[in-house]
Amino acid sequence: MAWDRHSTRLLAVDRYHPDRAAVCEAGAVLRGGGLVAFPTETVYGLGANALDAGAVERIFEAKGRPADNPLIVHLNTYEALERYFPGLPVAVPELARRFWPGPLTLVLEGGARFPPAVTGGLATVAVRIPSHPVALALITAAGVPVAAPSANLSGRPSPTTAAHVLDDLDGRIDLVLDGGPSGLGVESTVLDLSGDRPVILRPGGITLSELEAALGSVQLDSGVDGGPCPEKPRSPGMKYTHYAPRAPLIVFDGSDADRVSRCILLEAELLAAAGFQVGVMACDETASLYDGLGYTVIKAGRRADPATVAAVLYETLRRFDRLNVDTILAEGVPAVGMGLAVMNRLRRAAGGNVVPV
Ligand code: AMP
Ligand code: MG
Repeated sequence: MAWDRHSTRLLAVDRYHPDRAAVCEAGAVLRGGGLVAFPTETVYGLGANALDAGAVERIFEAKGRPADNPLIVHLNTYEALERYFPGLPVAVPELARRFWPGPLTLVLEGGARFPPAVTGGLATVAVRIPSHPVALALITAAGVPVAAPSANLSGRPSPTTAAHVLDDLDGRIDLVLDGGPSGLGVESTVLDLSGDRPVILRPGGITLSELEAALGSVQLDSGVDGGPCPEKPRSPGMKYTHYAPRAPLIVFDGSDADRVSRCILLEAELLAAAGFQVGVMACDETASLYDGLGYTVIKAGRRADPATVAAVLYETLRRFDRLNVDTILAEGVPAVGMGLAVMNRLRRAAGGNVVPV
Protein backbone atom coordinates (compact mmCIF):
# COMPACT_ATOMS: atom_id res chain seq x y z
CA MET A 1 0.00 0.00 0.00
CA ALA A 2 1.24 3.53 -0.78
CA TRP A 3 1.15 5.70 2.33
CA ASP A 4 0.15 9.32 2.09
CA ARG A 5 3.09 10.93 3.88
CA HIS A 6 2.32 13.87 6.12
CA SER A 7 -1.45 13.41 5.95
CA THR A 8 -1.57 12.64 9.68
CA ARG A 9 -3.10 15.45 11.73
CA LEU A 10 -1.64 16.53 15.05
CA LEU A 11 -3.86 18.04 17.74
CA ALA A 12 -2.29 19.41 20.92
CA VAL A 13 -4.28 18.78 24.10
CA ASP A 14 -3.69 19.71 27.71
CA ARG A 15 -2.56 16.65 29.65
CA TYR A 16 -4.79 17.26 32.69
CA HIS A 17 -7.74 19.08 31.09
CA PRO A 18 -7.87 17.83 27.51
CA ASP A 19 -9.70 20.15 25.14
CA ARG A 20 -13.21 18.77 24.59
CA ALA A 21 -13.44 19.68 20.91
CA ALA A 22 -10.16 17.93 20.09
CA VAL A 23 -11.06 14.83 22.08
CA CYS A 24 -14.56 14.65 20.52
CA GLU A 25 -13.04 14.93 17.07
CA ALA A 26 -10.62 12.10 17.86
CA GLY A 27 -13.50 10.01 19.26
CA ALA A 28 -15.41 10.51 16.00
CA VAL A 29 -12.36 9.35 14.01
CA LEU A 30 -12.31 6.15 16.10
CA ARG A 31 -16.05 5.56 15.69
CA GLY A 32 -15.61 6.04 11.93
CA GLY A 33 -13.03 3.23 11.75
CA GLY A 34 -9.91 5.46 11.80
CA LEU A 35 -6.66 5.31 13.78
CA VAL A 36 -5.75 7.76 16.57
CA ALA A 37 -2.49 7.82 18.52
CA PHE A 38 -2.83 9.11 22.08
CA PRO A 39 -0.77 9.48 25.24
CA THR A 40 -1.14 7.02 28.11
CA GLU A 41 0.64 6.83 31.46
CA THR A 42 2.95 4.18 29.95
CA VAL A 43 3.77 5.03 26.29
CA TYR A 44 1.77 6.43 23.34
CA GLY A 45 -0.90 4.01 22.08
CA LEU A 46 -2.32 3.58 18.58
CA GLY A 47 -6.07 3.20 18.99
CA ALA A 48 -8.89 1.75 16.89
CA ASN A 49 -12.47 0.74 17.68
CA ALA A 50 -11.96 -2.70 19.24
CA LEU A 51 -15.36 -3.91 18.01
CA ASP A 52 -14.61 -3.07 14.35
CA ALA A 53 -12.48 -5.81 12.75
CA GLY A 54 -11.61 -3.61 9.76
CA ALA A 55 -10.37 -0.78 11.97
CA VAL A 56 -8.32 -3.19 14.09
CA GLU A 57 -6.73 -4.68 10.97
CA ARG A 58 -5.66 -1.16 9.99
CA ILE A 59 -3.52 -1.04 13.18
CA PHE A 60 -1.59 -4.13 12.07
CA GLU A 61 -1.13 -2.63 8.59
CA ALA A 62 0.06 0.76 9.88
CA LYS A 63 2.54 -0.78 12.35
CA GLY A 64 3.64 -3.73 10.20
CA ARG A 65 2.69 -5.85 13.23
CA PRO A 66 2.57 -9.65 12.91
CA ALA A 67 -1.10 -10.73 12.88
CA ASP A 68 -0.60 -13.25 15.72
CA ASN A 69 0.50 -10.56 18.20
CA PRO A 70 -2.72 -9.59 19.99
CA LEU A 71 -3.72 -6.11 21.14
CA ILE A 72 -4.72 -4.68 24.51
CA VAL A 73 -8.34 -3.48 24.80
CA HIS A 74 -8.61 -0.18 26.70
CA LEU A 75 -11.79 0.55 28.67
CA ASN A 76 -12.78 3.61 30.69
CA THR A 77 -14.81 2.09 33.56
CA TYR A 78 -15.12 -1.05 35.67
CA GLU A 79 -18.78 -1.26 34.59
CA ALA A 80 -17.65 -1.55 30.98
CA LEU A 81 -15.30 -4.37 32.04
CA GLU A 82 -18.19 -6.26 33.66
CA ARG A 83 -20.32 -5.77 30.56
CA TYR A 84 -17.70 -7.18 28.17
CA PHE A 85 -16.35 -9.88 30.51
CA PRO A 86 -19.17 -11.60 32.42
CA GLY A 87 -17.93 -13.94 35.18
CA LEU A 88 -14.69 -12.16 36.09
CA PRO A 89 -12.04 -14.12 38.09
CA VAL A 90 -12.24 -13.50 41.86
CA ALA A 91 -8.91 -11.65 41.91
CA VAL A 92 -10.10 -8.88 39.59
CA PRO A 93 -11.98 -6.57 42.02
CA GLU A 94 -8.97 -6.32 44.38
CA LEU A 95 -6.51 -5.80 41.50
CA ALA A 96 -8.81 -3.14 40.05
CA ARG A 97 -9.12 -1.44 43.44
CA ARG A 98 -5.33 -1.27 43.85
CA PHE A 99 -4.07 -0.66 40.35
CA TRP A 100 -6.81 0.74 38.11
CA PRO A 101 -6.94 3.06 36.44
CA GLY A 102 -3.26 2.35 35.79
CA PRO A 103 -0.52 0.36 34.04
CA LEU A 104 -1.80 -3.18 34.68
CA THR A 105 -3.18 -5.31 31.83
CA LEU A 106 -5.21 -8.43 32.66
CA VAL A 107 -5.50 -11.40 30.30
CA LEU A 108 -9.01 -12.76 30.72
CA GLU A 109 -11.19 -15.48 29.28
CA GLY A 110 -14.45 -14.50 27.65
CA GLY A 111 -14.56 -11.25 25.78
CA ALA A 112 -16.33 -13.07 22.97
CA ARG A 113 -17.55 -9.79 21.50
CA PHE A 114 -14.07 -8.80 20.33
CA PRO A 115 -13.10 -9.86 16.80
CA PRO A 116 -10.26 -12.38 16.27
CA ALA A 117 -8.11 -9.55 14.87
CA VAL A 118 -7.87 -8.16 18.44
CA THR A 119 -6.88 -11.46 20.05
CA GLY A 120 -4.69 -12.91 17.32
CA GLY A 121 -7.09 -15.85 17.37
CA LEU A 122 -6.47 -16.59 21.09
CA ALA A 123 -9.36 -17.52 23.41
CA THR A 124 -8.30 -14.78 25.85
CA VAL A 125 -8.40 -10.98 25.68
CA ALA A 126 -5.95 -8.52 27.27
CA VAL A 127 -7.67 -5.52 28.86
CA ARG A 128 -6.85 -2.50 31.00
CA ILE A 129 -8.22 0.82 32.25
CA PRO A 130 -5.55 3.49 31.71
CA SER A 131 -5.16 6.44 34.08
CA HIS A 132 -3.97 9.13 31.67
CA PRO A 133 -6.67 11.84 31.48
CA VAL A 134 -6.34 12.11 27.68
CA ALA A 135 -6.68 8.34 27.23
CA LEU A 136 -9.74 8.18 29.49
CA ALA A 137 -11.36 11.18 27.80
CA LEU A 138 -10.74 9.67 24.38
CA ILE A 139 -12.27 6.27 25.24
CA THR A 140 -15.28 8.06 26.74
CA ALA A 141 -15.69 10.27 23.67
CA ALA A 142 -15.36 7.32 21.32
CA GLY A 143 -18.08 5.43 23.20
CA VAL A 144 -16.44 2.12 22.25
CA PRO A 145 -13.63 -0.03 23.68
CA VAL A 146 -10.30 1.04 22.16
CA ALA A 147 -7.79 -1.59 21.02
CA ALA A 148 -4.33 -0.06 21.25
CA PRO A 149 -0.78 -1.38 20.97
CA SER A 150 2.15 1.01 21.26
CA ALA A 151 2.14 3.63 18.47
CA ASN A 152 5.46 2.68 16.85
CA LEU A 153 6.45 0.71 13.77
CA SER A 154 6.66 -2.93 14.82
CA GLY A 155 10.11 -3.75 16.20
CA ARG A 156 11.08 -0.11 16.93
CA PRO A 157 11.38 1.46 20.39
CA SER A 158 7.97 2.41 21.79
CA PRO A 159 7.04 6.10 21.50
CA THR A 160 6.97 8.32 24.57
CA THR A 161 6.24 11.59 22.70
CA ALA A 162 4.01 12.64 19.80
CA ALA A 163 7.19 13.37 17.80
CA HIS A 164 8.25 9.70 18.17
CA VAL A 165 4.81 8.65 16.86
CA LEU A 166 5.16 10.88 13.81
CA ASP A 167 8.74 9.66 13.18
CA ASP A 168 7.32 6.17 12.70
CA LEU A 169 3.73 6.59 11.55
CA ASP A 170 3.33 9.97 9.81
CA GLY A 171 1.03 9.39 6.82
CA ARG A 172 -0.04 5.97 8.08
CA ILE A 173 -2.60 7.03 10.69
CA ASP A 174 -5.35 9.65 10.87
CA LEU A 175 -4.60 11.65 13.98
CA VAL A 176 -2.19 12.11 16.90
CA LEU A 177 -3.34 13.67 20.16
CA ASP A 178 -0.24 15.38 21.56
CA GLY A 179 -0.53 15.50 25.34
CA GLY A 180 3.20 15.90 26.00
CA PRO A 181 5.54 13.12 27.14
CA SER A 182 3.84 9.94 28.38
CA GLY A 183 4.45 8.98 32.00
CA LEU A 184 6.32 5.86 33.06
CA GLY A 185 8.18 5.26 29.82
CA VAL A 186 7.63 1.49 29.67
CA GLU A 187 4.46 -0.44 28.89
CA SER A 188 1.93 -1.96 31.26
CA THR A 189 2.53 -5.16 33.20
CA VAL A 190 0.63 -8.00 31.50
CA LEU A 191 -0.83 -10.43 34.07
CA ASP A 192 -2.50 -13.61 32.85
CA LEU A 193 -5.52 -14.57 34.97
CA SER A 194 -6.83 -17.22 32.59
CA GLY A 195 -5.01 -20.16 34.25
CA ASP A 196 -4.92 -21.70 37.73
CA ARG A 197 -2.37 -19.20 38.99
CA PRO A 198 -1.61 -15.57 38.05
CA VAL A 199 1.38 -15.28 35.71
CA ILE A 200 3.27 -12.16 34.64
CA LEU A 201 3.67 -12.41 30.87
CA ARG A 202 5.37 -9.02 30.54
CA PRO A 203 6.88 -6.95 33.39
CA GLY A 204 5.93 -3.27 33.30
CA GLY A 205 4.54 -0.33 35.22
CA ILE A 206 3.20 -2.36 38.16
CA THR A 207 6.02 -4.26 39.87
CA LEU A 208 6.22 -7.92 40.86
CA SER A 209 6.27 -7.02 44.56
CA GLU A 210 3.17 -4.81 44.21
CA LEU A 211 1.33 -7.74 42.60
CA GLU A 212 2.61 -10.16 45.25
CA ALA A 213 1.29 -7.82 47.95
CA ALA A 214 -2.13 -8.00 46.32
CA LEU A 215 -2.25 -11.67 45.30
CA GLY A 216 0.21 -13.62 47.44
CA SER A 217 2.33 -15.60 45.01
CA VAL A 218 2.70 -14.59 41.38
CA GLN A 219 4.65 -16.50 38.74
CA LEU A 220 6.95 -15.01 36.12
CA ASP A 221 6.51 -16.52 32.67
CA SER A 222 9.66 -18.11 31.28
CA GLY A 223 11.68 -15.65 29.21
CA VAL A 224 10.48 -12.63 31.18
CA ASP A 225 13.56 -12.34 33.39
CA GLY A 226 16.28 -13.53 31.05
CA GLY A 227 15.58 -17.23 30.66
CA PRO A 228 15.17 -18.63 27.17
CA CYS A 229 11.92 -17.56 25.51
CA PRO A 230 9.80 -20.64 24.71
CA GLU A 231 9.01 -21.27 21.02
CA LYS A 232 5.31 -20.72 21.67
CA PRO A 233 5.18 -18.18 24.52
CA ARG A 234 1.86 -17.44 26.23
CA SER A 235 2.26 -13.81 25.25
CA PRO A 236 2.89 -13.97 21.50
CA GLY A 237 4.58 -10.54 21.52
CA MET A 238 7.46 -12.00 23.55
CA LYS A 239 8.84 -13.96 20.62
CA TYR A 240 9.50 -10.94 18.43
CA THR A 241 12.56 -8.70 18.54
CA HIS A 242 11.25 -5.46 19.85
CA TYR A 243 12.16 -1.97 20.91
CA ALA A 244 15.32 -2.12 18.78
CA PRO A 245 17.46 0.87 17.85
CA ARG A 246 19.04 0.87 14.38
CA ALA A 247 22.58 0.16 15.63
CA PRO A 248 23.38 -3.20 17.26
CA LEU A 249 23.00 -3.04 21.03
CA ILE A 250 25.02 -5.01 23.58
CA VAL A 251 23.89 -5.02 27.22
CA PHE A 252 26.41 -5.59 30.03
CA ASP A 253 24.62 -7.11 32.98
CA GLY A 254 26.08 -7.57 36.44
CA SER A 255 25.58 -6.64 40.08
CA ASP A 256 28.97 -4.89 40.39
CA ALA A 257 28.63 -1.46 38.74
CA ASP A 258 32.43 -0.90 38.57
CA ARG A 259 32.94 -4.18 36.80
CA VAL A 260 30.15 -3.39 34.32
CA SER A 261 31.85 -0.06 33.48
CA ARG A 262 35.31 -1.65 33.15
CA CYS A 263 33.97 -4.27 30.71
CA ILE A 264 32.23 -1.61 28.65
CA LEU A 265 35.43 0.50 28.54
CA LEU A 266 37.42 -2.51 27.29
CA GLU A 267 34.86 -3.37 24.61
CA ALA A 268 34.52 0.28 23.55
CA GLU A 269 38.28 0.59 23.13
CA LEU A 270 38.37 -2.48 20.86
CA LEU A 271 35.45 -1.25 18.76
CA ALA A 272 36.85 2.29 18.46
CA ALA A 273 40.25 0.89 17.41
CA ALA A 274 38.45 -1.00 14.64
CA GLY A 275 36.95 2.30 13.43
CA PHE A 276 33.46 2.03 14.90
CA GLN A 277 31.61 5.00 16.34
CA VAL A 278 30.67 3.77 19.82
CA GLY A 279 27.59 4.82 21.78
CA VAL A 280 27.42 4.22 25.53
CA MET A 281 24.14 4.15 27.41
CA ALA A 282 25.34 4.89 30.94
CA CYS A 283 23.73 5.37 34.30
CA ASP A 284 24.07 8.82 35.88
CA GLU A 285 26.37 7.41 38.58
CA THR A 286 28.98 6.09 36.12
CA ALA A 287 28.60 8.26 32.99
CA SER A 288 31.68 10.41 33.75
CA LEU A 289 33.92 7.31 33.45
CA TYR A 290 33.41 7.41 29.67
CA ASP A 291 34.13 11.14 29.27
CA GLY A 292 36.85 12.42 26.93
CA LEU A 293 37.35 9.14 25.08
CA GLY A 294 35.51 10.03 21.87
CA TYR A 295 32.42 7.95 22.59
CA THR A 296 28.83 9.18 22.27
CA VAL A 297 27.62 8.91 25.87
CA ILE A 298 24.00 9.32 26.95
CA LYS A 299 23.13 9.51 30.64
CA ALA A 300 20.01 7.41 31.05
CA GLY A 301 18.80 7.60 34.64
CA ARG A 302 20.05 6.38 37.99
CA ARG A 303 21.12 2.79 38.57
CA ALA A 304 19.85 3.20 42.14
CA ASP A 305 16.35 4.06 40.86
CA PRO A 306 15.43 2.01 37.75
CA ALA A 307 12.17 3.97 37.34
CA THR A 308 14.33 6.89 36.20
CA VAL A 309 15.95 4.61 33.60
CA ALA A 310 12.52 3.40 32.43
CA ALA A 311 11.38 7.00 31.97
CA VAL A 312 14.09 7.77 29.38
CA LEU A 313 14.81 4.29 27.96
CA TYR A 314 13.01 4.53 24.61
CA GLU A 315 13.95 8.19 24.08
CA THR A 316 17.59 7.19 24.67
CA LEU A 317 17.44 4.39 22.09
CA ARG A 318 15.85 6.77 19.56
CA ARG A 319 18.52 9.42 20.32
CA PHE A 320 21.25 6.94 19.41
CA ASP A 321 19.48 6.47 16.05
CA ARG A 322 19.70 10.20 15.42
CA LEU A 323 23.38 10.30 16.47
CA ASN A 324 24.35 7.62 13.92
CA VAL A 325 26.47 5.42 16.17
CA ASP A 326 27.62 2.01 14.86
CA THR A 327 27.26 0.05 18.11
CA ILE A 328 25.60 0.82 21.44
CA LEU A 329 27.03 -0.56 24.69
CA ALA A 330 24.51 -0.33 27.53
CA GLU A 331 24.90 -0.69 31.28
CA GLY A 332 22.32 -3.08 32.69
CA VAL A 333 20.47 -2.25 35.92
CA PRO A 334 19.45 -4.58 38.77
CA ALA A 335 16.31 -6.46 37.69
CA VAL A 336 14.23 -5.49 40.72
CA GLY A 337 11.21 -3.17 40.89
CA MET A 338 10.94 -1.29 37.61
CA GLY A 339 14.40 -2.70 36.80
CA LEU A 340 12.72 -5.99 35.81
CA ALA A 341 10.81 -4.20 33.01
CA VAL A 342 13.89 -2.18 32.00
CA MET A 343 16.05 -5.31 31.67
CA ASN A 344 13.28 -7.19 29.83
CA ARG A 345 13.09 -4.36 27.24
CA LEU A 346 16.87 -3.91 26.99
CA ARG A 347 17.38 -7.64 26.49
CA ARG A 348 14.86 -7.72 23.68
CA ALA A 349 16.12 -4.49 22.11
CA ALA A 350 19.52 -6.22 22.04
CA GLY A 351 18.06 -9.33 20.40
CA GLY A 352 19.34 -11.33 23.41
CA ASN A 353 22.87 -9.88 23.11
CA VAL A 354 23.49 -9.65 26.86
CA VAL A 355 26.98 -10.14 28.32
CA PRO A 356 27.01 -11.35 31.94
CA VAL A 357 29.89 -9.63 33.76
P1 AMP B 1 1.75 -3.73 22.99
O1 AMP B 1 0.35 -3.33 22.78
O2 AMP B 1 2.65 -3.42 21.85
O3 AMP B 1 2.22 -3.22 24.29
O4 AMP B 1 1.67 -5.28 23.09
C1 AMP B 1 0.66 -5.93 23.83
C2 AMP B 1 1.25 -7.10 24.57
O5 AMP B 1 0.19 -7.80 25.21
C3 AMP B 1 1.96 -8.05 23.65
O6 AMP B 1 3.15 -8.51 24.28
C4 AMP B 1 0.94 -9.16 23.49
O7 AMP B 1 1.54 -10.39 23.15
C5 AMP B 1 0.25 -9.18 24.86
N1 AMP B 1 -1.09 -9.73 24.77
C6 AMP B 1 -2.18 -9.14 24.25
N2 AMP B 1 -3.24 -9.98 24.30
C7 AMP B 1 -2.83 -11.11 24.88
C8 AMP B 1 -3.45 -12.35 25.21
N3 AMP B 1 -4.73 -12.56 24.94
N4 AMP B 1 -2.70 -13.30 25.79
C9 AMP B 1 -1.40 -13.08 26.08
N5 AMP B 1 -0.74 -11.93 25.77
C10 AMP B 1 -1.45 -10.96 25.19
MG1 MG C 1 4.55 -2.55 21.46
